[in-house]
Amino acid sequence: MKTVISSAALSLTLLLSNMSKADDFPEHIADRTNYPRERAIVFGANAGIGAILGCLGAQISGDGCLEGLWRGGIGGTITYFGMEIGSRDEQVPFSGLVGRGINDLGASIVSNAIFSRGFLERYETTFGPLVFSIDSNYGFRTYIQPLATGTVIYHFIVGHDFSLMDSIEDGTLVFRMYEPSVSRTGSASAGTTNSTIPAYMPSQPATRSHENIHTYQLSRMRWADELVPQVWIFRYGAEALSALLSLPANLFEGDAYYYDPFEMEAYAMERPGH
Ligand SMILES: [Zn+2]
Repeated sequence: MKTVISSAALSLTLLLSNMSKADDFPEHIADRTNYPRERAIVFGANAGIGAILGCLGAQISGDGCLEGLWRGGIGGTITYFGMEIGSRDEQVPFSGLVGRGINDLGASIVSNAIFSRGFLERYETTFGPLVFSIDSNYGFRTYIQPLATGTVIYHFIVGHDFSLMDSIEDGTLVFRMYEPSVSRTGSASAGTTNSTIPAYMPSQPATRSHENIHTYQLSRMRWADELVPQVWIFRYGAEALSALLSLPANLFEGDAYYYDPFEMEAYAMERPGH
């Protein structure tokens, strides 16, 4: 019971945090037509972080740093190409879904490296609040993410418009909103993402694409699910890590928002469809 209460409290805390998209931009984000330099940084950062995580994890779990380093680097590189494809979801139908599959392939390769599993031993992906795990030893398993579940309920309660077509095309549960969401300090956002659940204003170009990138970021923290005890069928490690890392941006907004690595990545990768 204590575990149930503490995980409920954790879910509530997580609900208060989110990643959103504002509409007045500082200089490093303002010129957003086509930015090869920013994308190169995103590419390098993902390959590098994958390699570092792989090295550290494999050193601890048994395969040794070098083995984890190259596998993590490959996984991180693949996640970048997942974003390249998935960021076109406003332009090309189903690119959000295909991009997610590729992003999650890269993320799974990094996880396998971290825990010294075979290169493709386990593949994990999501649809909305559900996590699907396909493992060559354990077979097919399904888990539920509490923050994503709460977010879906929240969007229905406040009356955001569930879009079945967007959901099929992007491979998650997608909501449309027709007024900006307003934060605790009063700043307005054209979109908002909690865990793997995006909501966006269709009138605002690149917002669907931007929020979709945020859902991919959550999947790249999937390895954190394995570091915390699972509660029944609930997994919350990736959601907890994401909320923790986004805390400065959510608490302080302003510069903390625009220099948040998750936001800089989403702004660098997003592509307007109209
Ligand atoms: Zn954002």
